[in-house]
Amino acid sequence: MTASADLVVVGAGIAGLTAARVAAAAGIRVVVIAKDGPTGTSYAQGGIAVSRGADVEVHLADTLAAGDGLCDVDAVRSILAGAAEAVDELAALGTAFDRGSDGSLSMTREGGHSINRIVHAGGDATGAVVQEVLSAAGPTVRHHCTVIDIRTDAHGVAGVVVAGPDGITTIDTPAVLIATGGIAGLYAAGTNPPGSTGDGIALAVRVGARVADLEFVQFHPTALWIEGATGRIPLVSEAVRGEGAVLLDRAGHSITAGVHPLGDLAPRDIVARAIAERLRQTGESHVWLDARAIDNFPDRFPTVTASCRAAGIDPAHDLIPVAPAAHYLCGGVITDTAGRTDVPGLFAAGEVARTGLHGANRLASNSLLEGMVVARRSADAIRERLGRWDLDRWEPRDLARTVADDTNDGVPQILSDTAGVVRTGDGLDDADRRLHGRAGDRALVAQLVIRAAQRRTETRGCHTRLDHPDTDPALGHSLAYGIDPDGEPIDLGPVLPHPAATAEVTR
Ligand SMILES: Cc1cc2nc3c(=O)[nH]c(=O)nc-3n(C[C@H](O)[C@H](O)[C@H](O)COP(=O)(O)OP(=O)(O)OC[C@H]3O[C@@H](n4cnc5c(N)ncnc54)[C@H](O)[C@@H]3O)c2cc1C
Repeated sequence: MTASADLVVVGAGIAGLTAARVAAAAGIRVVVIAKDGPTGTSYAQGGIAVSRGADVEVHLADTLAAGDGLCDVDAVRSILAGAAEAVDELAALGTAFDRGSDGSLSMTREGGHSINRIVHAGGDATGAVVQEVLSAAGPTVRHHCTVIDIRTDAHGVAGVVVAGPDGITTIDTPAVLIATGGIAGLYAAGTNPPGSTGDGIALAVRVGARVADLEFVQFHPTALWIEGATGRIPLVSEAVRGEGAVLLDRAGHSITAGVHPLGDLAPRDIVARAIAERLRQTGESHVWLDARAIDNFPDRFPTVTASCRAAGIDPAHDLIPVAPAAHYLCGGVITDTAGRTDVPGLFAAGEVARTGLHGANRLASNSLLEGMVVARRSADAIRERLGRWDLDRWEPRDLARTVADDTNDGVPQILSDTAGVVRTGDGLDDADRRLHGRAGDRALVAQLVIRAAQRRTETRGCHTRLDHPDTDPALGHSLAYGIDPDGEPIDLGPVLPHPAATAEVTR
């Protein structure tokens, strides 16, 4: 069965729903498709970083510091400048952001932020509140459907192949926006929902798009530690440390004292590494978060409180056991700040995209804002493309189709063993061997992550190589990857300014 649309949006989190809503309002015939299960968006706790006026430059400086030399400064400035409008729009759609008694927005702080600039809703339930508001705003989503392939012709994107309750169907379309979220669901344990398996990365490279910065998988320092837990692990928001909680080892010593001037509020890579090092020294499985001094903890952090109570912990009286867990992919499909990829008609936004905002390490709460800002702009870029798509000529590449049933493929264990908070060349080479020849999208994404981690023979941002503990100035740029006609990862050199961005400058 074949249907048609002007635009297919793959994913119904903050990026997909924002792009779909703006595109539909502009008269574009949109179909939104989403897999089973919750989105990554619905789990976001801390909030949305938003800067206004003079603070945009301070926010820029904080973002660049966290990004450890790999951010694209123009992209950072452009995206941060769009945050206030995007948050105002969310409020206008009905998002009840938390406010002080004077009616002004309550602002909290997370790691790497030099001031309080993070707005939140429902205490620590920002993502759930935003997801509900955006879902209600429409358009309707076709749930229980998985996009398993994108089709191209000489004009670029030509359609998608969907697996759903009606079997395998196709939708003809000249534009696809990939908004499939992160990859932490590929790890044995992480903070993402199980559906966050990097499908969009596989879909994009299989039609010739480039990816970059996949080695920068951010590990959240404080996932709730539960003995033997696998799959999705509840998060203890960084905002808990923002409100005064401290990280301690079993002996009661600070984990971060002397590690960074911001102490427990240092950027996530630094805190996660400090915890990993302390665990290595002590041989223990977790450290502790002392949040007992925070007033009204259950009111301010209802989600964290519920997760702790389910594990038999009362944060008002008990120390909270925590350990780092796979959390966020800083890289992804290379796009400009309007979501354009290398492939005509293919757009990407949200966690799956690599705009250059995060560099080697995302600043906390910069991702919801990126999803909204880039998705809104993507809708405009898509409208522009629909006006002239039949003029484009493009050379479709005959790249490998590796769609396969890839459950029980061993990928989670391989990634967790070798591409965790700390990595070694030997471990990554071992992963490369173990993944070689495996079919399926998950194995393909894992191979690309491993390739990127192998090539980055230095420690930078959230990529820590025990065999290369220093930062190498010669590697101070992002590296692009793709696949060859056999479906094997290939190196595609340093990331240069996006072709669409260059075209805009010269026009
Ligand atoms: C526990 C947690 C806390 C976080 N806290 C914060 C925070 O406080 N602030 C912040 O800024 N960020 C936070 N983040 C990160 C942020 O939530 C995500 O980066 C962001 O929500 C991703 O949005 P998205 O729209 O790109 O993807 P998602 O919201 O993950 O949506 C992805 C969508 O794609 C669909 N999908 C995937 N593959 C396919 C396929 N093949 N076919 C069809 N559909 C598909 C999924 O079903 C889903 O609908 C947090 C993340 C987690 C997990």
